[in-house]
Amino acid sequence: MKLGSMQYAGRITTTLYSTLKQLATPEVNLCTVEDPIELIEPSYNQMQVEHKIGLDFAAGIRTLMRQDPDIIMVGEIRDLETAEMAIQASLTGHLVLSTLHTNNASPAVTRLLEIGLKPYLVKLTLLGVMAQRLIRTLCPHCKTKQTLLDEQWESLVNPFKIKKTRDYLSSKRLY
Ligand SMILES: [Zn+2]
Repeated sequence: MKLGSMQYAGRITTTLYSTLKQLATPEVNLCTVEDPIELIEPSYNQMQVEHKIGLDFAAGIRTLMRQDPDIIMVGEIRDLETAEMAIQASLTGHLVLSTLHTNNASPAVTRLLEIGLKPYLVKLTLLGVMAQRLIRTLCPHCKTKQTLLDEQWESLVNPFKIKKTRDYLSSKRLY
């Protein structure tokens, strides 16, 4: 079981989809349970959660297991039932990929235990956790070069005391 921790909902989908795209060879049956399906990909067998008819993530995985999948992507693990189904799928030899709401990679383990999973099951099935966050960049069209004032520099490096060197001053590009 591989998990992606997300700090900003949505962005992780891109990472998850590109990972799946690498795995989706014609020999494997790749199934997804999503809420909602954010991107239609012909090489996956995609299923959307439908709460009105009781089709939640857990029920979705249960249904998918009858389709003899090799790889399962569960949109999100947020309750014990879904977590247990994901573990079950993973224990029976399926590669399970999913996302969790945590601030970083390591709290994903704590989160799984908080949900109610047995520690030995987490140890047995969890292959890896990846955290993702967005980096702020300046717009390439609007950014302008500016001289950095001493107090601006101090507020940037606060609480650390780092000397403003010539390198920073003479740098051609200011990000
Ligand atoms: Zn701009």
